Amino acid sequence: ATPTAVMVGTGVGATHGVLIKGGQALESASKVNCIVFDKTGTLTLGKPMVVNTRLLQKMALKDFFVFVAAAEVNSEHPIAKAIVEHAKKFKDEQNPSWPEASNFVSISGHGVKAIVQNKEIMVGNKKLMLDHNISIAVEAAEVLAEVEGIAQTGILVSIDREIAGVLAVSDPLKPGANEVVSILKSMKIRGIMVTGDNWGTANSIARQVGIETVIAEAQPEAKANKVNDLQNCGYTVAMVGDGINDSPALVAADVGMAIGAGTDIAIEAADIVLVKSNLEDIILAIDLAKKTFYRIR
Ligand code: ADP
Ligand code: MG
Repeated sequence: ATPTAVMVGTGVGATHGVLIKGGQALESASKVNCIVFDKTGTLTLGKPMVVNTRLLQKMALKDFFVFVAAAEVNSEHPIAKAIVEHAKKFKDEQNPSWPEASNFVSISGHGVKAIVQNKEIMVGNKKLMLDHNISIAVEAAEVLAEVEGIAQTGILVSIDREIAGVLAVSDPLKPGANEVVSILKSMKIRGIMVTGDNWGTANSIARQVGIETVIAEAQPEAKANKVNDLQNCGYTVAMVGDGINDSPALVAADVGMAIGAGTDIAIEAADIVLVKSNLEDIILAIDLAKKTFYRIR
């Protein structure tokens, strides 16, 4: 393609809210035959909500949520925010704030722990509990499986190292996610999902959206490694993500595409920014790249 064609291509992209950072990005996009999708905030809306609570100890829901919220109010994670928001519904009107937590620790990709009213509280996934030798009884395991089977994320709560309850958190698919995956398939572009979330939920979401290959419980380096593996298999890979945890993979990919509503770090790491955060703009970007580089079948 001539420099003029590239300028026209990036210009057309810009008018549609697809920011292409240079000719190399556009050329690579014209060759993409595999797209790695992050789950949370990319395929899903990224606005999790607590939709159910299962108490597994005899206690008032109100007291349960005081412990949970006092621990989670210190976390920036979207799941933590959803939990605190939900906990407000059970709050005593006389107490304007949550009790102070001490010894707060945030364990990336797993959850949080803190001391609240002399009790040790942990909120997070199965890995968090197992790493602290907290046993997950049959009942809790059954609730988790049930929740994950309907594409929700089960968050475990322990009080003094005993599981006290499970919160079901829902983060629905973005409208149109299905169509985008199937249109890409018809363009001979393979879709893969990588996520820090658990395998059960990840597989349920993947099934809903029509993606067959899933990598779950993936730390940021694991996401980037997956991209490299695919490249070593001969694929030209695009990575689509929104989070800090996606930035190594966005850099590793032939084309990193950041969701506009995502974190600044992801946007900086990417070659293409989908300003409107619409998944359909992935197709627009690739079509535009193919037209610019005469790769129309
Ligand atoms: P994702 O890639 O889905 O954003 P993360 O790597 O941030 O996932 O977290 C993975 C999992 O760790 C979450 O799905 C959740 O189960 C658990 N987790 C992480 N942070 C928290 C938190 N503050 N409270 C509860 N659970 C958490
Ligand atoms: Mg994400």
